[in-house]
Amino acid sequence: MNQFTAGKHHDLLIDGQRVPAASGRYFETRDPSTEEVIALVAEADAADVDAAVRSARAAFEGTWGQMRPADRGLALLRLAEFVRRDQEELVELESLDSGKPVSAVRRQDLPAVIDTLIYYAGWADKISGQVIPARTDALTYTVREPMGVVGAIIPWNFPLMIGMWKIAPALACGCTVVLKPAELTPLTALKIGELALEAGIPAGVLNVVPGFGKTAGQAIVDHPDIDKVTFTGSPGVWRQILQGAAGNLKRVTLELGGKSANVIFPDADLDSAVKAAGSGIFFNTGQVCSAGSRILAHRSIYDEVVERLVARAQGVRLGDPRDSGTSMGPLISGTQMERVLNYIEIGRNEGARIAVGGARHGDRGYYVAPTVFAGVEHEMRISQEEIFGPVAAVIPFEDEDDAVRLANGTSYSLAAGVWSADITLGHRMTRRLKAGTVWVNTYGPTDVRLPWGGMRDSGYGREHGDIAIENFTEPKVVWINTGR
Ligand code: NAD
Repeated sequence: MNQFTAGKHHDLLIDGQRVPAASGRYFETRDPSTEEVIALVAEADAADVDAAVRSARAAFEGTWGQMRPADRGLALLRLAEFVRRDQEELVELESLDSGKPVSAVRRQDLPAVIDTLIYYAGWADKISGQVIPARTDALTYTVREPMGVVGAIIPWNFPLMIGMWKIAPALACGCTVVLKPAELTPLTALKIGELALEAGIPAGVLNVVPGFGKTAGQAIVDHPDIDKVTFTGSPGVWRQILQGAAGNLKRVTLELGGKSANVIFPDADLDSAVKAAGSGIFFNTGQVCSAGSRILAHRSIYDEVVERLVARAQGVRLGDPRDSGTSMGPLISGTQMERVLNYIEIGRNEGARIAVGGARHGDRGYYVAPTVFAGVEHEMRISQEEIFGPVAAVIPFEDEDDAVRLANGTSYSLAAGVWSADITLGHRMTRRLKAGTVWVNTYGPTDVRLPWGGMRDSGYGREHGDIAIENFTEPKVVWINTGR
């Protein structure tokens, strides 16, 4: 058993202290591969969020706000070092809580967390304004000031990585944070909070309040002393977030869902295209906001794409996340498994054909076999709605215009992929596809230096890169009368 979970009871982290919830309540967190309870976690609600906000406000106005920006950067670098030191414990813990294969967390999530910390550590002392010569009788310039207290609400699919996408830039800017991890994966956020203290980040700068969306999450959204809410989660929640945030006109960034199209033209390198299409939908058991859940294949290669994709699905090694040979773990919860199985049933009833998979795998753990639907029509629900599981819908298209119509024909606009040997077609498609990211002859990579996010039901604003610095700062104009 992992050192961190061995204690079983995990308290909140508020003002640098591990404290029980004011209500005294705890909730269970489970290992999705065995369905067993691995720990009990203190359940924050409005009272605890309020205590965390007060601590974050004090740290913002005190220690953290007064710290030299370069020293904030050094503190983030020290945190990166402690994450590296404890990476095996973090890998195990993330895998235990989320069901992600250890091999994937080790290869992808942990390096991304460290990279994010180092990248934003570098930003801390480089956030500057501009001298703008607006007048001859004044010196006019801008400075960028930290927004204040940030409420960060994160999902369960990449708890460590998405958490750090918010914590690192917020802290680099001089903000303080109240972080609410998803109720299904609270453990690594608490561990990161402890490491931050060990790295010399003062008490109150990063508070961690595990709890449920409707209570702890909503309390963050509604809190009058939070200046900014950064949310990653399901599209169904954005309206509540915006309504709550309207109370004191909080700044808001939303990263939501997707139903991304991966478009394969007939001249594509099919080996690479289908390999990437497979990992594009089966990676992280399909629980990825930018999953390539719609594979659009030109009619002339449609059957071959389906056949090859079936072979890829059959090659997926579904199993114990702790086994280093496992390439796909379980879904996060029984509810999510039921949701995915229900969508498979919907697809069947809509008349799509299951080419492979289509059922639960085993009877212990929330496993669903990698599934490929052929004969999918654009209007079907399995082609329009985010399933958030290992379920690919393969849809034929006739020509470029048809591919664009289908790819753009959902309520989402997060990501898209294009496969073709024709570079002019590739470039043209990047212009025609409505998405926050368009990949050409690859699918799925992200980098914290590049803006990330989408439009419409996929989100509001962007994260990453210098945009995240804008997300956590406000410009201020200084106008100094110099006379003539
Ligand atoms: P979710 O919306 O159920 O939960 C996300 C977080 O929001 C959790 O911490 C939850 O407790 C909290 N929450 C729920 N209701 C709330 C409310 N009313 N007020 C405040 N907080 C609330 O989402 P999920 O099921 O955990 O995550 C999966 C979703 O996240 C998918 O739709 C996926 O596409 C999306 N996602 C998007 C991105 C992106 O970058 N665009 C990345 C990963 C996941």
